[in-house]
Amino acid sequence: MIALVVVAALLPQQVLIATPRGQASVPVSMERGVAAVAAARLAQPLGLVVSLEGMAVRVVLGGRTFDFDLGAPFVRIGDAAYPLVGAPYVVRDTLFLPLHWLADYVPRVSAGRYRWDPVRSRLEESATLAVGPTAVTLSPPPAAAPAAAASVPPPVTAVPAAPTIAAGTPNPITGLRLSHTIVVDPGHGGIDPGNPGLTFPGHLAEKDVTLAIGRLLRAELVRRGLSVVLTRSTDTLIDLADRPLFCRAECDLFVSIHVNSMPKGPRQGRASGVETYFLSDAKTEDQKRVTQMENDAMRFETATPVGDGPLAFILKDLQLNEYLRESARLADLVQGRVSAVHPGGDRGVQQGPFLVLAAARRPAVLVETGFATHKEDGAFLTSAMGQRKIVNAIADGIVAYLLEFERKLAVGGPGR
Ligand SMILES: [Zn+2]
Repeated sequence: MIALVVVAALLPQQVLIATPRGQASVPVSMERGVAAVAAARLAQPLGLVVSLEGMAVRVVLGGRTFDFDLGAPFVRIGDAAYPLVGAPYVVRDTLFLPLHWLADYVPRVSAGRYRWDPVRSRLEESATLAVGPTAVTLSPPPAAAPAAAASVPPPVTAVPAAPTIAAGTPNPITGLRLSHTIVVDPGHGGIDPGNPGLTFPGHLAEKDVTLAIGRLLRAELVRRGLSVVLTRSTDTLIDLADRPLFCRAECDLFVSIHVNSMPKGPRQGRASGVETYFLSDAKTEDQKRVTQMENDAMRFETATPVGDGPLAFILKDLQLNEYLRESARLADLVQGRVSAVHPGGDRGVQQGPFLVLAAARRPAVLVETGFATHKEDGAFLTSAMGQRKIVNAIADGIVAYLLEFERKLAVGGPGR
């Protein structure tokens, strides 16, 4: 999202607050893996007023009110919620706020009162209030070299989008004004074949089809001017727990690609169609089946498996977060587009506690692109034409979501 690149690239040790009343240096904490600053250290130089009630954090700065929830990577300004890199948290009786909020949202809604200098990690307050239009304009992220945060595995394949979009100029293909990075995750790989691809020709298994679709999707999104990171571009196994880590610093959303299958029985050859999942508790037997199947990939992994406890904890944490609603919206748009071109029909948006989605901390969906156990679905999924149709439809859904997201920032956003 907007200033992610800057924040991630620089990872300053401290930020300078420069106001007409003087200067202060505020240390940046990385103890939760994301740059954050102690709210108390900002109070004096900026005249920041903070109140903490239960999980609710309210910050008033420069006449603006910012509402946060502890543990939730969002800030509410007026009626709209905006995504953050990192969530506010409390340690040792100290409230920490994500640096992303200070460097990106504060200047953006301040009508020129605050300016963030990414080179010097400096927030500058101007001596006089800016006069002129107060409408919020989104400034494009300055070009910054990609940086790998310490805890994030290096991207397997990062493809920079071309051409770079100039300030405020909508991309001629998509109409998007900002740069966005999508993490595409082809399910399974290496010693984990996924489902055996009962109706697939030759020795193709789920992992081969997800990789083919993932690579085509990358090419299509790049063609549309988006940046794409593939979690794997070859036949290798990436641990489930590591896949979402690709979607941390430079990532707007996470899309995992899979192929469904039915166990032996009367329904095996009959079930068909596409379904799109977002993270939640599994509600129906079918949802439980798919969730268990995809989470089963863990048995191939070398790391200590995540038990019920931690996942339940993560889920509980995530369910509180507003970004789940974003994931549901993304799922809705992707499902709508893919089901419109899919011969097997529309199985709808589904929910399941997928490990691969649990840690993304971005809008994240998992697309079950069809059934390997269904003859027609299997032919569609393994044909060039079918894969092309699926890829175009997923890309359409992603772009539709990002357009909505940009409209929400600019139109429903603060400052109007
Ligand atoms: Zn799968």
